Amino acid sequence: MLVVMKAHATEEQVHAVCERIASLGLRAHAIPGVQRTAIGITGNPCAMEPGALEEMSGVQEVIQVSKPYKLVSRDAKEEDTVISFAGSDGSFGGRDLAVVAGPCSIESREQTFAVAERVSRAGARFFRGGAYKPRTSPYAFQGLGEEGLKIMAAVRERFGLMIITEALDDESLDLVADYADVIQIGARNMQNFSLLKKAGRKRKPVMLKRGMSATLEEFLMAAEYIMSEGNYEVILCERGVRTFADHTRNTLDLSIVPAVQRLSHLPIVVDPSHGTGKRNKVLPLSRAAVAVGADGLMVEVHHDPDHALSDGMQSLFPDQFDELMQEIRSIAAVVHRNVQDSQPQPAIAKAGR
Ligand code: PEP
Ligand code: MN
Repeated sequence: MLVVMKAHATEEQVHAVCERIASLGLRAHAIPGVQRTAIGITGNPCAMEPGALEEMSGVQEVIQVSKPYKLVSRDAKEEDTVISFAGSDGSFGGRDLAVVAGPCSIESREQTFAVAERVSRAGARFFRGGAYKPRTSPYAFQGLGEEGLKIMAAVRERFGLMIITEALDDESLDLVADYADVIQIGARNMQNFSLLKKAGRKRKPVMLKRGMSATLEEFLMAAEYIMSEGNYEVILCERGVRTFADHTRNTLDLSIVPAVQRLSHLPIVVDPSHGTGKRNKVLPLSRAAVAVGADGLMVEVHHDPDHALSDGMQSLFPDQFDELMQEIRSIAAVVHRNVQDSQPQPAIAKAGR
């Protein structure tokens, strides 16, 4: 259920409605919009009489949301959600495309700084890299753990890049939330409901990757889990799904971008690296992702992909990433978006200090 407040409803009126909802044992989520505030009600509203709220002052109407996702839906918030960051001009969901780049795994300080310097010079505002890696084999490199998070924090300090890294479980979530600017929930965890709820109680944006076989509705419901706990800063990420096609690692489902944008106000970015698994397909699919209207890209880049400890085959060389940025700049303009220029570089930008 959704309470739509009048355009000029006061803060006190919004507060009174929220209090009333809470007194019924339900949770109120006030979602301010440009035109008006909507208050989403979560919990089990069976016991509630919509009439009781409809009569309260400042209330325009009480509507039943027929879709299973409520807070994620455009019914709750008509305009796009824009997620911005203190101390950065990078954002998700605005006119500027969010470009997230970096290695699959954080391997060492030298490797991380070498890649960060290049992606920052190319114009990325967000730096990715896994400190906790979900690997198919227990014998494969599992990530540096907290040491990796410290290296990422040093990258933020040095290059001003915002840090995105994956939380694999309860324990790593607490650490990731302490160090990172954006918490990544990986494809394999998209329906790890306890992890989603816990991420929903953090006060950091969450990038939620689509599960390998998740439908659009399952994807949006996973985002709803996070929002239902009070964290409204969710970024969706399409990273390819499993199909019979075997010319790529996954099948990048670009059609989900306009499908999400029609139903939800949340930003959606595309990861063509995991989406294809092949370096030579990352550039063409990045072009396509921008053309289809994605709010950003997440791309794996490595200064020495042949020796990468994970996903070297799909990682771009830094020069290829430069080319990608050039190309998406012209495509972005056609779809009324923008790709930012080089990040202002630190005075002594010597990699691997
Ligand atoms: C990653 O981004 O490094 C990753 C493991 O992605 P996914 O969860 O999409 O496989
Ligand atoms: Mn990877």
